[in-house]
Amino acid sequence: MLKFSKLRIANITNKKISTKCQINMNKPDILIIGAGPAGLTTAIQLKRYDLTPILLEKDSVGGLLRNANLVENYPGFPNGIPGPRLIALFEKQIRRIGVEVTFDEVTDIDFDGGLFSVEAKRNTYHASRIIIATGTKPKPFPIEIPTQAGERVFSEVWPLRNVRGRQIVIVGAGDAAFDYALNLAGRGNTVTILNHGHEIHCLPLLWERARAIPSITYRDKTTIQRIETDVHTNHLILITDNCSLNTNYLLLAIGREPQIDFLSERVKMQASALIESGKLYFVGDVHNGLFRQTAIAVGEGLQAAMQIYQIVGRIGNPPCEEDR
Ligand SMILES: Cc1cc2nc3c(=O)[nH]c(=O)nc-3n(C[C@H](O)[C@H](O)[C@H](O)COP(=O)(O)OP(=O)(O)OC[C@H]3O[C@@H](n4cnc5c(N)ncnc54)[C@H](O)[C@@H]3O)c2cc1C
Repeated sequence: MLKFSKLRIANITNKKISTKCQINMNKPDILIIGAGPAGLTTAIQLKRYDLTPILLEKDSVGGLLRNANLVENYPGFPNGIPGPRLIALFEKQIRRIGVEVTFDEVTDIDFDGGLFSVEAKRNTYHASRIIIATGTKPKPFPIEIPTQAGERVFSEVWPLRNVRGRQIVIVGAGDAAFDYALNLAGRGNTVTILNHGHEIHCLPLLWERARAIPSITYRDKTTIQRIETDVHTNHLILITDNCSLNTNYLLLAIGREPQIDFLSERVKMQASALIESGKLYFVGDVHNGLFRQTAIAVGEGLQAAMQIYQIVGRIGNPPCEEDR
């Protein structure tokens, strides 16, 4: 095995580099939507092929990961790493490589005449290949949220990163709910987790950690039925089927669904053919159902970039004689 790989390396290094092998004479127009882990990785790998994509982001680099309290399943960080710190490393890497992010929110994608046209809030873009890396959006909360309460109800934890010494109610029973609880309790807040059922869906280690923290209370079989606001204290009053809770903030962690609102009917109808022909890619959480994890998103982003390079390399640069 060792001998074989040595031989291969020797063959490669002895080969003359043909000018015909030089890649990427006609740079294709590639557009990535979403600068979370999936979109960033696609952009990094394309840049390594000298294929500079346009990378659009509506909000901030790093995506959903900015909510993660401690990422412990991403290789390379033996003690785990908080999501925001991992994002800071991603940002450092894209700066060094020269990947640029354009801040614009995509509102519509259509495909006509072999080209995508992408409407965004600030500009219109055209591309021959598109990578959708837009992740997920929160599932709608079935209870009406009064307008006055709007500024105290969230679906992500990062807006509360500077909140200390407050009462916070979290709705949900999955990884995100318990991760949020650990995050907020670690900042000196008092947290109540409400589960409308009795089953817990989070990792056992998150449950064990939450159970060990006195400032986290867990209540099962408790469903919010109405939300009111106290005009004097500015508190939220949550009327449930078995109690009434007074809280500063309400954080919803009741699940997420794919963020694909911007796809036109025409693109949806042609999606399979566009994917098959290597023009359209979905990477990361946006199409991963229950399997929403950073390492998976990163792997898929990398794979999409490699697939694009295979196609673009073939179109613009026929393989060299020597390689046939
Ligand atoms: C509390 C919490 C803890 C987590 N902990 C872990 C963990 O420990 N380990 C782990 O592996 N994973 C963890 N995750 C999951 C991880 O964050 C995701 O799997 C990962 O971020 C998915 O990356 P993505 O790029 O596919 O999507 P996202 O990170 O969601 O990125 C999508 C990006 O697209 C942008 N976007 C969306 N729509 C548009 C539009 N119309 N125009 C322009 N841009 C748009 C968004 O703003 C966002 O930046 C956690 C998630 C949460 C919420």
